[in-house]
Amino acid sequence: MTQRTRPPDKPLTDRIRPEHPPYGLADYERHGGFQGLRAALKMAPQDVTGLIKAAGLRGRGGAGFPTGVKWGLVPMGADAPKQKYIVANADEMEPGTFKDRLLLEGDPLQLIEGMIIGGYAIGASVGYIFLRAEYVLAAERLRAAIRECRARHLLGRDILGSGFDFELYLHTSAGRYICGEETALISSLEGKRAIPRAKPPFPTTAGLFGKPTVVNNVETLCNVPHIVHYGADWFRRLSRCGDGGTKIYGASGKLRRPGAWELPMGTTVREILEEHAGGLRAGLKLRGFLPGGASTDFLTAEHLDLPMDFDSVAKAGSRMGTGTMIVLDDQTDVIGMVRNLMTFFARESCGWCTPCRDGLPWGEKILAGLHTGRGQPEDLDVLRQLTRWLGPGRTFCAHAPGAMEPLQSALKHFRVDFERAANRGVPIAATALQES
Ligand code: NAD
Repeated sequence: MTQRTRPPDKPLTDRIRPEHPPYGLADYERHGGFQGLRAALKMAPQDVTGLIKAAGLRGRGGAGFPTGVKWGLVPMGADAPKQKYIVANADEMEPGTFKDRLLLEGDPLQLIEGMIIGGYAIGASVGYIFLRAEYVLAAERLRAAIRECRARHLLGRDILGSGFDFELYLHTSAGRYICGEETALISSLEGKRAIPRAKPPFPTTAGLFGKPTVVNNVETLCNVPHIVHYGADWFRRLSRCGDGGTKIYGASGKLRRPGAWELPMGTTVREILEEHAGGLRAGLKLRGFLPGGASTDFLTAEHLDLPMDFDSVAKAGSRMGTGTMIVLDDQTDVIGMVRNLMTFFARESCGWCTPCRDGLPWGEKILAGLHTGRGQPEDLDVLRQLTRWLGPGRTFCAHAPGAMEPLQSALKHFRVDFERAANRGVPIAATALQES
């Protein structure tokens, strides 16, 4: 069995280390590797998609869109475009998120197998892995794995005598967060400036070079071989909720054992933080956490018994996002934390649309003032307005609305901290009087 079907008894961060090389092809196959592909190639492509739908696999990049539904939206049949693509989004840059790195470094063949199956299901003969620039070790290991697969005819013409051709290329990013947004990623792959475009049309109908393209997250694709090998029911049974499978949860912050663990989908926050991450370091109390990377809303200690699945976290007022939590303790300055995130989001704005390009640095400036004792009582109103001006539907893509999530929820849950900081500075009216 490959890593993903082993019992989740050990944190991935304990097992996957740079000094431990991943399986080569022979070991991978000895442990069940490429059984999923062999099974898929005996099925009709639409049946593979049907299986992924039945398994209840939802996208692990953050949005949770049903993977089988996405594949099913790609035109098939005689009238469909001949050229289609599948892209693995390995541009993992969400702050606090490091789950895909573990899969890329620890089991690159698993991703390759998932991509070949995905390519077969949607009728794509070419795949690209779009990799984060800083993932140098992953690049090295992916290149070696692709080379090995080519040499063994698992990539290229007539894979395993099935008549299916599939070529796979590794593309390393130049290093911008916005490239993780799928339409910006596609522009970048085409050699253009990485700017998101409005959807629809969705990439499933008009994607890379205008052709139907599926863009899936790395963790999503790594589940595919096992679903095909062990079946949709097996996958559903791994979960504790309506969505199928396991999830790689992560936790960072002042915890005893920060890390990442593969656990049943729907594992509670308490179990992840207390059992697996060992709880907060001595003397610290939990104030809140961002459930899935930086672009999600804060939840608080009241939500410890919340199951970490897409729907439960949405009902609680946030998003599961990437499922990698950033924990806030009672001795960490929440304004400093939000300021730090805003600095990142402002720096990473692609600059295309005005609200995002100008609004994020404005938010950053106000937060810097509050953080360094130069706050004004009016700052809080401006910040609240900013969260509306940069909210969903006001910008070209999800970047600025995502950046507003930690801010708006911090203003709600940790209002006292902001009020204290805002009243510490000299009021604007007083400043105006002094200057006149
Ligand atoms: P989205 O909801 O617009 O789309 C999610 C996916 O579903 C996309 O692939 C989209 O093409 C597809 N989709 C949605 N509706 C469709 C339709 N009607 N037809 C065909 N396809 C359809 O979300 P998004 O803007 O792509 O992604 C936002 C998420 O990305 C956020 O949840 C955020 O947490 C996450 N994110 C992750 C990282 C990371 O490093 N993993 C970085 C930044 C953001």
